[in-house]
Formats: sequence, structure tokens, C-alpha cells
Amino acid sequence: MADPVDLLDLDREALGDLIESLGQPGFRARQVWRQMYQRGNVDPMQMTDLPRVLRENLTEVAAAEREPLEVQTSADGSTSKALLPLSDGEPIETVLIRSRPRDTVCLSSQAGCAMGCVFCATGLQGLRRQLSVGEILRQAVLARRWSRDEGRELTHVVFMGMGEPLANYSNVSEAIVRLTDPEGFGLSPRRITVSTVGIPLNIRRLASDHPTVNLAVSLHAPDQELRRELVPVPGASVDDIVSAVREHNRRTGGRVTFEYVLLRGVNDSRAHARRLADRIRGIRAHVNLIPLNPSPGVVGTRPSRRTTLGFQQALQERGVRATVRVEQGRDIAAACGQLRGDRVRSGA
Ligand code: SAH
Ligand code: SF4
Repeated sequence: MADPVDLLDLDREALGDLIESLGQPGFRARQVWRQMYQRGNVDPMQMTDLPRVLRENLTEVAAAEREPLEVQTSADGSTSKALLPLSDGEPIETVLIRSRPRDTVCLSSQAGCAMGCVFCATGLQGLRRQLSVGEILRQAVLARRWSRDEGRELTHVVFMGMGEPLANYSNVSEAIVRLTDPEGFGLSPRRITVSTVGIPLNIRRLASDHPTVNLAVSLHAPDQELRRELVPVPGASVDDIVSAVREHNRRTGGRVTFEYVLLRGVNDSRAHARRLADRIRGIRAHVNLIPLNPSPGVVGTRPSRRTTLGFQQALQERGVRATVRVEQGRDIAAACGQLRGDRVRSGA
């Protein structure tokens, strides 16, 4: 028997071919497409506008949907984190952040991550594997349904979960195509953000393939020496990253966000802030300061509130827009950098 198909891995043409091979007319493919992306129905039996025989045939060929292994919600109800099992049992995490009138889903793009940022729980695992297009999209589709079930609407998608999205470029790019397909998920690209550790070649590709998708670049240091301590995997230099961002600015006319995780006594002084401001001068940018979320096994502690505000002020004095990230979901370790797929660790 053929391997089960992940319906979310299929583009429109492939879905059309599948429906045809099941002896059904072409318009049925459009119905399945809408059910999956607009309604968030991934189980064919739930697609009640389809003839029963098609639902049954699809159920036979499609991979069975798996329930989340676990869902945790923060005490204030603002954030839920789901641990989802992939077909090979690899777990990934997806986070839904409710902050009226927005509902944002934070997507994983890889299981684990190769970049090894010293403060990041995902980085501790190393890269386990790339996620397929369907595995990326399933997270958004499920989040759409969770929001709807609560009488809300998913409005934003951020690639800030596990993994480095620009190290899985083609699958992330295809996922963005589907998320923005008006007959599919139907989200404006302006409501999508890709957060990257900084891979210059793929920042350029993103500017050309998806110019209106928002770009966030995790810089964390004003110069190369310090950055190497924090992002140890040999990759692009701060210079190369900053030039790619300048080019992104020029080509897209957009504003980029620099993310900067603040670690006490490491990269949090006013002098660092001044050097950062010099480094990014002339770029239409906004700096998002993220006080470190401590997590077992990762290096560092967060600076005091006073140091954080001092850093922000030093940037603002040099004309750089800067905000301090509002944190949600810390009590369930759903904040950035705390995603680790706990079942991997415990071996369950
Ligand atoms: N790999 C991408 C996207 C995932 S990480 C990237 O690095 O940008 C999303 C954000 O969470 C990044 O800015 C990352 O630096 C930040 N982050 C990682 N670990 C963190 C931690 N322990 N505390 C606070 N932010 C963290
Ligand atoms: Fe990977 Fe981003 Fe974590 Fe660095 S911060 S290890 S790039 S997921």
C-alpha cells in the first residue's frame, strides 16, 4: 500500500490530481482546499460539504491526524503551548498568543536548530530535522481552529518557534505562499513575520520572493566578537548581516526589527547600546529588546529592569526606535527560547 499522504503537503495542482485519481470532479479539490485552510479542518470526515464516498476515500489515503501530546495554558489565559507529534514521533511546539484584537500563532520551522545560540533551549537540541511544508502549515491551521473554537480569529503568524526558518528556506517560502493564498489561508503578508538569526543570502531571497512579509533579525550583539560568543555556529558576520538588512530595506521599503536578547553583564551596557546604534545607523529599523528568559541548561541571566530601560534609553537618545518585549506565557515556558519539545528530553 502507498505511504499515507499529508494533504497539507500538496499544492493545489497535486491536490487536484489526487481528487481526480479518486474519480471526483475538479471543483471538489477547491472545496477540500477551503476546508483545510479556511475552516481549519484537517480530518476529511469533518469536511461535511463533500460526498461521503470522497470523505472515506480521502481518509484512506491521508495520514491520520494526531492529537497534540499536551496543551498548556498560562495562568492568565493569554498563551497556550501545544506539543505536536510529527509523523515520525518527533515533537514540536506551537504557541497561540491571545492579545485582543490579535491572535498570533508562533510557528516552528525545524525540529531543533543547528545554530546553537547559547541562551536558547531549542538550540540545545541541535538540528533534528527540517519540517515539511505540511508540518509548518498544520500548526497555523490548527491555531486557526483553536481561535475560532473560542469565538476569536487568528490574525497574525510569526516564525519564531523552534528552528531557524531561513535554514529551511524553500519549505518556509512555500508555506508563506499558502498562508497568503486568498483562496487558501488568506492572510495578508503584512501580518506574517519571519525571525532569523541572520542568513544573508536568504534574507535577500525573502526580500525578492516575499517583499511585504515582515523581517526580524536576531542580532544580540553590536560586533562580531561578542556575537560569536552568543551565536557560536560559524555563520555570517555582523557586517554581512547588516548589509543584507540594508538591502532588504532598499528593496522592500519596509522597516526591519532587530531582536536583541539582553544577558546580564554580557551585552547589556549603555556602551553596547551606543555601538549598536552606530552599527545600524541609516537602516529603517526598530529594536526589540528581549530580557533573557532563563531556562534550565541555557547560559545567562536577565539584566535588572533598570539596566534594560537604560539600554533602551541609550538607543532612543541616538534616534533608534526601541521597545522592550511584553512577555506572555512565561509561567508555561511558552516564551521565545523556551521551546524545547519536552518529550525529547524525557525520552517519553
Ligand atoms: N531562529 C530564529 C527564530 C526562533 S527564536 C531566530 O533566532 O530569530 C525567536 C526569538 O527568540 C529570537 O530572537 C531568539 O533570539 C529569541 N530567544 C531565544 N532564546 C531566548 C531566551 N532564552 N530568552 C529570550 N529570547 C530568546
Ligand atoms: Fe536557533 Fe533561533 Fe534558538 Fe538561535 S535563537 S538556536 S537560531 S532557534
